Amino acid sequence: MDDGQQAVNIDEFLRQEGFDTDEAVHEGRIVLERERLTRSGKQAFVASKLPRARAALRSTLVRTCAGCRRVAGDPPGRRPVAVSPGRCELCGGSNNRRAVERCVVVMRGRGIGRVVIVGGTPPQQRDVRDLFADTTVELRFVDGTRASHSQKDAEHNKRWADLVVIWGPTPVRHAVSELYTEQRYEGLKVVQVPRRGIEALCDEVVRALRPEARKS
Ligand SMILES: [Zn+2]
Repeated sequence: MDDGQQAVNIDEFLRQEGFDTDEAVHEGRIVLERERLTRSGKQAFVASKLPRARAALRSTLVRTCAGCRRVAGDPPGRRPVAVSPGRCELCGGSNNRRAVERCVVVMRGRGIGRVVIVGGTPPQQRDVRDLFADTTVELRFVDGTRASHSQKDAEHNKRWADLVVIWGPTPVRHAVSELYTEQRYEGLKVVQVPRRGIEALCDEVVRALRPEARKS
């Protein structure tokens, strides 16, 4: 038998694709029925329909966990459906990824596209870079331990950035952070993060950028 003619159970297919709640399976079925890939009451379709089915689901629905559902950053035209965190398209169950997602939405709302992060160990910086890789936010890192970071370097960064984050407890020399906290630039937001960890970093930025925090 031609592989394309093999019967595929629709509910199983949807669960394999990450639609792992009853609600998500239901929403997925509605999409497949609307695309005439199946009809109400049918349990299976032929395997040759799989690519079209995947494309229809991808363009119509976005799988999100409860934590990400509040994030208003859904791609336009795609409706959120509730799945478990591990199958969430936004965070994949990762607290760091969820925090970055939330942070990016808030940054976008405030028109922030360029961020200088002062501090962080090289592995932390690499993780942050990876997590922001799919976003529109541009990042620049400053090694907080380097005595050679000059006033001129800092001025250059402050002119470029919309936001400066001082990642406090990671290795940051006072002399380096001072270059960013002493002389402020008009319109340039500076956030000090007193905690370690990427989730903490993002949460502090979100807190600082929230509308009620604007006055400070
Ligand atoms: Zn999520």
